[in-house]
Amino acid sequence: MWEVHQIMKTFAIAVIVATISVIIFGCAPNVREKQLEKFITAHVEKIKPLMRERNLASWDAAITGNSEDYNRLSKLTLELRQIYNDPAEFAFLEDMRESGEVKRAPVSRRIAKWDYRDAILARQLDVLYNAYLKNQMEPQLLKKIVDLGTEIKKNFSTFRGTIEGRRVSNNEIKEILKTETDSARREQAWLASKQVGAAVADDIIELVRLRNEAAQKLGFDNFHTLSLATAEQDVKELDRIFNELYESTSGPFAKLKTDLDRIFAAKYGVAVTELMPWHYHDPFFQESPMVYDLDLDSYYEDKDVQELAERFYAGIGLPVESVLASSDLYEREGKNPHAFCTDIDRQGDVRILCNLKNNEGWMETLLHELGHAVYDKYHNPEVPYLLRRPAHIFTTEAIAMFFGRLSRNGAWMQQMMRLSDQQRMEIEKVSSKYARLKQIIFVRWVMVMYNFEKQLYANPEQDLNSLWWEMVEKYQLVKKPQGRVEPDWASKIHFATAPCYYHNYVLGELLASQLHHHIVHNNLKLESDKNVSYVGLSSVGDFLRKRILEPGSVYRWDDMIEQATGEPLTSKYFVAQFVK
Ligand SMILES: [Zn+2]
Repeated sequence: MWEVHQIMKTFAIAVIVATISVIIFGCAPNVREKQLEKFITAHVEKIKPLMRERNLASWDAAITGNSEDYNRLSKLTLELRQIYNDPAEFAFLEDMRESGEVKRAPVSRRIAKWDYRDAILARQLDVLYNAYLKNQMEPQLLKKIVDLGTEIKKNFSTFRGTIEGRRVSNNEIKEILKTETDSARREQAWLASKQVGAAVADDIIELVRLRNEAAQKLGFDNFHTLSLATAEQDVKELDRIFNELYESTSGPFAKLKTDLDRIFAAKYGVAVTELMPWHYHDPFFQESPMVYDLDLDSYYEDKDVQELAERFYAGIGLPVESVLASSDLYEREGKNPHAFCTDIDRQGDVRILCNLKNNEGWMETLLHELGHAVYDKYHNPEVPYLLRRPAHIFTTEAIAMFFGRLSRNGAWMQQMMRLSDQQRMEIEKVSSKYARLKQIIFVRWVMVMYNFEKQLYANPEQDLNSLWWEMVEKYQLVKKPQGRVEPDWASKIHFATAPCYYHNYVLGELLASQLHHHIVHNNLKLESDKNVSYVGLSSVGDFLRKRILEPGSVYRWDDMIEQATGEPLTSKYFVAQFVK
């Protein structure tokens, strides 16, 4: 009797547990879902230590510059790519997706509930599928692509343009374009900056053909469409956003460019109609020329940018001490001269590399890299390994930009460095002008990159040299030098080394503005962002942490943005902030 009772009781408990599980976790996993779970466990066991080793090798290479570290890095990178190259495993994932048996809650429910569990298995399947998809190609083709890419990269880093037969460095060219007032000297420097294009153009076109070959074997039109698909982006959607930006910036950009042209014509002693590409302050007219008086460095020179950043992030409830403690922050011989953030193990070992000096530029960079760092650091540790990373490359860029922008924000500078109202107003007068200049010029430049690259992959056999200048004339209003027939496009390294990526910089800026608007109006409940500095506001950190950082990529970037801000990604707040 007792035994029967016990069995009944056990049974009843089992039923209750099962029911509760169904309520909490959705339906119990079916056969396929169980298979997938097993696959994921084995896969993560394989890649987790390998990724950590690879990230450590990359870190060591960056801080030492040693060739052994670089060799270790490329060996581990290849090893990882080979895992994702496995055709049998890819077929398993493809079959899993096509079966439709891996459950996926409808977006509306996922967003309404904002519950990790609904999405987790299907989401991991998506992430895995995309990672395998872009690596599916015959080993010989993969090797050809990797080798040619490395060759081009090497040519870029060793090539030196010449001025009157003398070899010049990139820094020299940049310096001339920033400061030289003699038009002929500027023209020589600009021409020198383009010489690398002729040296690498044929190789880049060949690389484009190979990438297209791989993509077409997978059933895509070309490599551009494949890249966007595996990055969960849609060409139509990107076209829509870029068209919107084109429309909304055309008038303001034309006006701003007229003002700049007037300043340049006077400075170089030429007529406005005689202004050529070499009259702008960098080889591509992608940066804002420093034409207004503004010296923000003087505010930072007697401060410690590291202390400012640490205090600021602590104040918003996203402390970064542990990140800074394992980072490499100051200049040293042999060390990578730039800046980046790396998540070594997706378990809290997050580091940044900088070459800090106490000036405004490094203040911006430090806030920016720490923005990436808090994204990586504050993922929820309960989220599965494969999803413990930012929702998208541009969403982490957005968080970084959101914070990076503060280094020139008058209210932020005032509060962090105890400046007077007078000082704040002086900063604001010029810095908002520069912020606008910088954003509009950059957006127009990215339109050239995005639209050219799309057409480059659609048809690499067309007259690319003319196409490039059509784009530059249309989007940047910069004139093609008469009779010029050279592959000027090929002097931009990104076509070779970071293909189909550049548009993400603009999407990051758009999202940074959208988040800023949302926080100011919905979170802080203010009418405008006047004097908003975020200093000491833990509610800002809370919002970002809960809505963006913690879920990692449990949700697709578009679901995440809609959930976090109440609307899909839009350009309207960027336009309101910088264009109008
Ligand atoms: Zn960044």
